[in-house]
Amino acid sequence: MAAIDSLPPLRDVIATHELSAKKALGQNFLLDLNLTAKIARSAGTLTGSDILEVGPGPGGLTRGLLAEGARRVVAIEKDPRCLPALAEISAAYPGQLEVLNDDALEVDWAAHLTPPIKVVANLPYNVGTELLVRWLTPKSWPPQWSSLTLMFQKEVAERIVAKPGSKAYGRLAVLAQWRAAPRIVLTLPPEAFTPPPKIHSAVVHIDALAEPRFAADPKTLSHVVATAFNQRRKMLRAALKPLGKDIEDRIVAAGLKPTDRAEQVPVEGFCALAREVAAS
Ligand code: SAM
Repeated sequence: MAAIDSLPPLRDVIATHELSAKKALGQNFLLDLNLTAKIARSAGTLTGSDILEVGPGPGGLTRGLLAEGARRVVAIEKDPRCLPALAEISAAYPGQLEVLNDDALEVDWAAHLTPPIKVVANLPYNVGTELLVRWLTPKSWPPQWSSLTLMFQKEVAERIVAKPGSKAYGRLAVLAQWRAAPRIVLTLPPEAFTPPPKIHSAVVHIDALAEPRFAADPKTLSHVVATAFNQRRKMLRAALKPLGKDIEDRIVAAGLKPTDRAEQVPVEGFCALAREVAAS
């Protein structure tokens, strides 16, 4: 296949800059640039968007994003050893790549980007879920990003898109499906990465909806859902007892059965319950 850019192959980049993978930083690198370009394309049209990338590492996905026409990429990388490799990419795409040597959990990323903003990342597994929850719970909606295209462990990806009645359905599914539309766009075997992790991975694409699907106060919904799934084996009337003495009446008023379990309640049901709880 044709090279996506004129920069050296990633194996050479890693050897030149001695980027031995560090487990503590969740470093499993993608070295196939045709694959990283494919992941970049799964984020939709990149021309005319600024991209936030978390954890560029040696820059495989970064190069895919730039080759696929991203207007600008802002990449947050915690490991300073990666900076020289990323500087070579900046030099090949003048003015289009800004690298922040920082912890993605600490940075005010929005200050560095101009909308429309897409987030695309092969996330470090240790902070992936935390970052997703933060992106899904901004101060106001619609959020500053228009879409998230993120690599997760396959099991986490399945939890994000899970439907009621399945074991994978929980807080992450409700959070992701209430005011966004998530779908799995690609699954990858361990061998796609260097070094190979123990698990399979999947890319999830999440479009932000202009409005939530159902009305609810975000904080109340979050609290109700967390309480319900905290004891997912119990019936709602028992699991939700911490929400107040009259919770059984609220459950009925929301059109739910007190004998249902959290994993049977659709997003709409949780929103109705959050409205009842907020009103009581
Ligand atoms: N994007 C590269 C690729 O696809 O080959 C590397 C992906 S690797 C799974 C995750 C990257 O995130 C590593 O480069 C690691 O150093 C970086 N990282 C880990 N924790 C981070 C954090 N808290 N903030 C920013 N980057 C982090």
